[in-house]
Amino acid sequence: CGIVGIVGQRPVADRLVSALARLEYRGYDSAGIATLHEGELQRRRVSGKLVNLADKLRLDPIGGLVGIGHTRWATHGAPTEINAHPHATSRVAVVHNGIIENYRSLLVELAADGYLPSSQTDSEVVALMVTRWMDLGLSPVAAVQATVSRLQGAFALVFMFQGEEDLLVAARQGSPLAIGYGDGEMFIGSDALALSLFTDRVTYLEEGDWTVVTLQSASIRSRDGHAVDRLVQLSNTSS
Ligand code: GLU
Repeated sequence: CGIVGIVGQRPVADRLVSALARLEYRGYDSAGIATLHEGELQRRRVSGKLVNLADKLRLDPIGGLVGIGHTRWATHGAPTEINAHPHATSRVAVVHNGIIENYRSLLVELAADGYLPSSQTDSEVVALMVTRWMDLGLSPVAAVQATVSRLQGAFALVFMFQGEEDLLVAARQGSPLAIGYGDGEMFIGSDALALSLFTDRVTYLEEGDWTVVTLQSASIRSRDGHAVDRLVQLSNTSS
């Protein structure tokens, strides 16, 4: 339902939760964040409201300068902690808006190779596919590209990778995503409101676009892999 990502120079956990709070008006049934701390993926997820997530983080904080967050409106699988996003393996964490229509057949393929889901969602298949490609030797970016080309349905996806402190990869097909340009930091959100705490300089991804975001830059490619230029706009969402 709501997505936010930060590649930052300051701790991200609390900022992810604050940005998700901006999206509460859209409705949701569960929430979660993941960060990279000393190169390792860390996650905190809850069913119910963001206040539960904030409480959990108070008791059990996570550091990290790069992270992703999600408020979920369940379509596949009950609104439990296990089904809350981010979904993750030891290599990758992902948040997803939308529906992966062909997730069942993809899960069958993955199971044949020993990759088994731990949730009931359509979304987790994406984390498993990227992991399988990386296990086969592909880079994070190539693994996302190979995965996204197999997905049917509607999605906005943001990925973060074990050991990659300066990288988020995102893709859009049928669900909106925007890139936010900060001061030495970069952001991704499901809309400009998600980014309004951080910046008013945004670029909206177009249908089929995917992007590689680092502290310094966002490079955007169209579905066919060609580099494209998208306008940087001033959003009128006041913080
Ligand atoms: N289909 C996914 C799920 O049920 C994502 C739902 C959403 O857009 O929040 O987990």
